[in-house]
Amino acid sequence: MGAKRRHQHYPGRWRRQHRRKTLDEYLEILWYMQERHGTNLKKFMIHEEFDWQPGVAEELQSMGYIEQSETELKFTPAGYEKARQLVRSHRLAERLLTDVLNMKLDHAETSACEFEHIIVPEIVDGICTLLGHPKICPHGLPIPEGNCCREAKRSIESATKNLNQLQVGQQARIAYINTRSNSRMHQLTQLGIRPGAIIWIHQKYPALVIRTDHTQIALDEEIANDILVWELQSGSVATKDPASEG
Ligand SMILES: [Zn+2]
Ligand SMILES: [Zn+2]
Ligand SMILES: [Zn+2]
Repeated sequence: MGAKRRHQHYPGRWRRQHRRKTLDEYLEILWYMQERHGTNLKKFMIHEEFDWQPGVAEELQSMGYIEQSETELKFTPAGYEKARQLVRSHRLAERLLTDVLNMKLDHAETSACEFEHIIVPEIVDGICTLLGHPKICPHGLPIPEGNCCREAKRSIESATKNLNQLQVGQQARIAYINTRSNSRMHQLTQLGIRPGAIIWIHQKYPALVIRTDHTQIALDEEIANDILVWELQSGSVATKDPASEG
């Protein structure tokens, strides 16, 4: 029963029994096992449902991808990196095929697995950038980060400030809101505080007050910290704080 339920999480092709898997496919399976069960893969590699062919572990070991002892089987750094790249390509391909080309996930699955073997990392990064550096695949599994994701994060972080860092009179465009709380996000959105909105810093003490086109809002310091903005040169979008007009 438990095994059956677990089964459903494995992408379909892993369950096919009659074809010899490639070593790359085994590396992907090991990555997947590692995500679910931790770094020591010994007890999972003998599990029947993974269809380990005789000699596969030895082959992976001789290629320098895994190391094993009586009690342990795990990735070497080279194997880890190789598997990471394969899984990254696979999951990005799933995103591309389902989000952009509207393919059904079942169909995308097979194509994704072809894709990962023919695409070089630079192109994978290009696709990742095109898709906005997605963090999870359509199955909800994490997409390992690439250089493109790290650079994008760095440049966004260096260009944005949080609301507490702005001065009175400054104007800014909201970049994103860094909260995991749905209710807080909803509340802020209701107030017109959403990515893309323009705000002005109206007052900093005793409390931070910002203005949008429509309203004036006092914000807790903690909430203001979670609101990341791009500073605007005064005059670049609107000339002044609308509050001072009336
Ligand atoms: Zn794959
Ligand atoms: Zn997936
Ligand atoms: Zn990326």
